[in-house]
Amino acid sequence: MDDEVNKALDKYFGFNNFRPGQEKVVRDILNSQDICVIMPTGAGKSLCYQLPALIKPGYSIVISPLISLMKDQVDALLAKGIPAAFINSTLMPSERIEVEKRLKNKELKLLYIAPERFRSEAFKRFVKEFPPEMLIIDEAHCISQWGHDFRPDYAKIGHFVEWMNVKQVTAFTATATNLVREDIKEVLKRPEMDLFVTGFKRDNLKFRVIECYSKAYRDTTLNNLLSEKMPTIIYASSRKAVDEIGERFNCLRYHAGLPDQDRRDVQELFMSMKSPVIVATNAFGMGIDRADIRRVIHYNIPGSLESYYQEAGRAGRDNKPAECILLYRKYDQNIHEFFIEMSHPPEAMIRATWHMVASLSKTHGAFLEMTLDELSQLVPGSKGDMQISTALKVLERESLLQRGNRDSNKGTLRLKGGTLDPLMLYPPESQRGIFIKRMVDYFGTEKLLEGIEVHPHNLTVVTGLKTDQIQKVISFLKKDVFDWDRPFTGRGVHIPDPELRLPKLDLKEMKKHESLERGRLMDMINYADTEKCRQVFMLEYFGEAANGWTCGICDSCRGVHKKKKKKKESPEKKSSMAGDDLYERLRALREEIATKKHRKLFHIFHNSVLEGMAEKKPLTFAEALRIKGIGTGSKEKIKPFLAEIKKWRSETTKN
Ligand code: ADP
Ligand code: MG
Repeated sequence: MDDEVNKALDKYFGFNNFRPGQEKVVRDILNSQDICVIMPTGAGKSLCYQLPALIKPGYSIVISPLISLMKDQVDALLAKGIPAAFINSTLMPSERIEVEKRLKNKELKLLYIAPERFRSEAFKRFVKEFPPEMLIIDEAHCISQWGHDFRPDYAKIGHFVEWMNVKQVTAFTATATNLVREDIKEVLKRPEMDLFVTGFKRDNLKFRVIECYSKAYRDTTLNNLLSEKMPTIIYASSRKAVDEIGERFNCLRYHAGLPDQDRRDVQELFMSMKSPVIVATNAFGMGIDRADIRRVIHYNIPGSLESYYQEAGRAGRDNKPAECILLYRKYDQNIHEFFIEMSHPPEAMIRATWHMVASLSKTHGAFLEMTLDELSQLVPGSKGDMQISTALKVLERESLLQRGNRDSNKGTLRLKGGTLDPLMLYPPESQRGIFIKRMVDYFGTEKLLEGIEVHPHNLTVVTGLKTDQIQKVISFLKKDVFDWDRPFTGRGVHIPDPELRLPKLDLKEMKKHESLERGRLMDMINYADTEKCRQVFMLEYFGEAANGWTCGICDSCRGVHKKKKKKKESPEKKSSMAGDDLYERLRALREEIATKKHRKLFHIFHNSVLEGMAEKKPLTFAEALRIKGIGTGSKEKIKPFLAEIKKWRSETTKN
């Protein structure tokens, strides 16, 4: 069998060798084992299931969460001559029937579907009649309720597995927390599933932590690092920090707040320049395929080791030496604590969110298309989009609403009424002419005049034009032929019955999640403080056996880290928070007020009180009362400080 496996590796994929861990997974799957595989992003999980699916008789189903990823994967397989296809909401009925026909004729080896497919009784009946050899769940962490990517339809896969009595189930993810692992087994109703963690060692990466006692020291350190030119990513924890660093160090910038076109331009520059330096939030990286990144520097500590490993791991994909450097400042912890707090809103906020979306749906219809930001503006007492996001998650759990997926949103195309025959407007062989003719043939003039809801992919199928051609044609035809409302770019919310009363909420899960998040942050901090081999620390965290291996090249292994630690005690006697952004702003404000009122600084507030404010970030006087040194007598005095904190909070948006 080994021979067959190696031959297939070469024949289908053109690779000479397996990556670490791949061969064992392939072999286990060929032995008909149920298995849950945890391997880091980029380690090569797809091959682990594609290869056995090709060798096995029959076909296998791959469940994948994103329509765009699905299409990329299938295109890549087709390019290798592997018979694969997908069925999802973007397919026209005729295309779907074609795929089903090919399955019946045993012409396909891999069928990609979105989990929503199991809502279709027709599809389920079809699968029962033509059962797959194996069910593969890619991005299996989407099963977990509190994972950041939870998909309710993923949680229903288990019912299907049971109902079908599926021959073999395999699951793949890069997310390694215990909670997620347990959820996967439980939801899939396969308690005997083997767990396999592999591929987390990275021989060529040199991990290092540099403790920075002040902002100034951190900037000097970064400056020194950047004097050596090489492809570098700097990760920072907020958009504001990205903008500041980008300006100060004159480098490329990337975060989710930039317009789409700017982001595309920046990505392109990053790919094409010889030694680009980019500063980015964690929004940067998905789909970045540059193998020769020599350094990943974290300007702020990330919120978990998963994030850190994933971001740092983008260095040295070419297997040549590369460095992962964490500039560690203890007080960065605060910003994560703030994020955690914001992501776990009080019950009153969740209720307020329900009342708002329910009342909106009475006037706007059952399908709401509003961004989290927009909702946050409307919900009384909301402190931002993170609270709203969690509130919606909780409401979805309570089955009061459903959230849609970004990439299945449809646009509306409407033929403008008028006397001219649209078919006569443009030469029939021009792209505009083709577009109009095919649309009219397919949908009919009457329907088009009423307006049709359509996914952009459908337009390509109906007209035979490519996505970019369609964009150009539509923007032209908008003048005189069609009205086009583009698909909503956020996640829509469906409220089937706004009259439903909110039950007593069970917030146990949310509270559990909150403490887990705090725990994950502590693990990250422990990583920064550890004297163990950095990579061994991470392997243990992810659950891969190190078996006595050490990387030999991290600062701990080389003993550099410990020497630094000795020097640590001295600086910053005055305030351990000096340099913290908010703290410094509050100090500046105090100075301004003291000067104006001709008072001494400590008459306004002591340093320790400002520290408390910078740490707890209160928005109301009631919240501020929890800070040591603030009593009921401070009510007037604290007002300008609360205003400053509010301003700071609104500027420091995540991503
Ligand atoms: P993951 O899903 O684990 O993030 P992918 O399956 O997308 O990773 O694979 C990442 C890249 O690694 C792909 O470009 C793939 O072609 C490549 N790859 C996978 N296995 C091998 C191998 N054995 N040899 C060379 N390249 C490989
Ligand atoms: Mg993958």
